[in-house]
Amino acid sequence: MTQIICSPTKYIQGNGEIRKLGDYCLQLGAKSAFAIIDPYIFSMYKEDISHSFELNNILIVMREFKGECSRNQVDELVLQLGLKDVEVVLGIGGGKTLDTAKAVSFMADLPVVIVPTVASTDAPCSALSVLYTDEGDFDCYLPLKRNPDMVIADIDIIAKAPTRLLVAGMGDALSTFYEARACRQSGAITHAGGTSTIAAFSLARACLDTLLAEGELALQDVKQGITTSAVEHIVEANIYLSGVGFESGGLAAAHAIHNGLTLHEGCRNTLHGEKVAFATIVQLVLEKAPSEEIAQVIDFCKRVGLPVTLKDLGITSSEIDKLMVVAEASCTQESPMWNMPFEVQAVNVLEAILAADERGQ
Ligand SMILES: [Zn+2]
Repeated sequence: MTQIICSPTKYIQGNGEIRKLGDYCLQLGAKSAFAIIDPYIFSMYKEDISHSFELNNILIVMREFKGECSRNQVDELVLQLGLKDVEVVLGIGGGKTLDTAKAVSFMADLPVVIVPTVASTDAPCSALSVLYTDEGDFDCYLPLKRNPDMVIADIDIIAKAPTRLLVAGMGDALSTFYEARACRQSGAITHAGGTSTIAAFSLARACLDTLLAEGELALQDVKQGITTSAVEHIVEANIYLSGVGFESGGLAAAHAIHNGLTLHEGCRNTLHGEKVAFATIVQLVLEKAPSEEIAQVIDFCKRVGLPVTLKDLGITSSEIDKLMVVAEASCTQESPMWNMPFEVQAVNVLEAILAADERGQ
């Protein structure tokens, strides 16, 4: 069996990194850059960004991200940068801005630098982009040729974002070890294209250990507006450890159940990582994990404010038929549920959801 691990070529995090983007692009040998930037970040940091490129004699074209990460938007941006002899694409902002930059770089066959300004998911490091329709509905996954050339996390900016986003990132990172463990047991093929490695599994383990040890402390610190080593560690766990951990360690029941939950109208206002956190508890119930392990995960979720019951997610547990739709959707043919080391039927998922809800209460 072939074992594969993939990751961004370089991962950088620190304070004030937004003012060094020009230096990093110079390291890539670029003489002209094209940046797609979230409106808020654009309004706050456009001078800092352009100054850093001027200092390094790199031409920069900056575009505020508007609308959707859709095929139309991507095509239009590729057309714009084709006229400018661009040598590197940057995405600076949240999920859809980063996905747009990745898709544009893929279409234009250029290096990409990803600058996440929130740590709400583990998507930035991956070689995957999610495309939506112009109306904002899910369109398709776009697998990229390679991972980003650089991922640069500015801790100061991430720490200033609403705390709910950092907590949701911890929820997304919480599942990584358990899903990687299930994939290792089943010998599943991961997104990286082979079975898991010692390296990826170790990163997934470090991700969980970091969350449990420092997640609550990091949350207290960002609430007080201070960036401490706990905040740095949680940003690294949410973005890098979980990012490489999921892509090369594999996804399993937790993300399968998350995908099912997106169909439930009650969860419409919950974030990706919030659904993943509850789905992690469901996976552990499905696995008949030791009671202490389940208790540890529930306790962590409660301490940082992640959902542990259906009610926390906005779902009434008495609506069994709607929950059955969730359970069935989590067991479709393409679902990562198939990476579990034992067969899982929709009815098992339904029972596990209800049992997880009960334990959460
Ligand atoms: Zn996720």
